[in-house]
Amino acid sequence: MSAPFRIGIGYDIHRLVEGRRLILGGVEIPFEKGLLGHSDSDVLSHAICDALLGAAALGDMGTHFPDTDQSFKDASSLDLLANARGLIAALGYAVQNVDAVVLAERPRLGPYMKTIRERLAAVLEVEPNQVSVKAKTSEGLESVGRGEAMAGHAVVLLTRK
Ligand code: MG
Repeated sequence: MSAPFRIGIGYDIHRLVEGRRLILGGVEIPFEKGLLGHSDSDVLSHAICDALLGAAALGDMGTHFPDTDQSFKDASSLDLLANARGLIAALGYAVQNVDAVVLAERPRLGPYMKTIRERLAAVLEVEPNQVSVKAKTSEGLESVGRGEAMAGHAVVLLTRK
């Protein structure tokens, strides 16, 4: 693997349920529901993690952090993201920039965006201006629009260190 840069894409979706904390980009957001899954089910961090792994053709989160492995139960997705960053660093690549979208009907995420970007940037070892995160609703359509789920999309550019 010697190209000067590589790009990757990631996507994730998790069901919203009562009795779970809502974590997006490693930030706990006050809300009456949270995302269901084996780890903290942070759809934004998961999409970025898969984009990182995809850029380096290293498979996906299921390959590296299987939900059959009890050590990943309730894992912090930022720890998984840090792990993925280490894998791409070992191949000689660094994150150049990330652009991500969180699909959530509620709550409004604007007030948390600065903290989310700062936290993701710290884990990815880049500056916050290299991490873009946008929030969109689904205009009431489909599972996200009905408030049954949240989803994340991300693209990442890696450059050779
Ligand atoms: Mg996931």
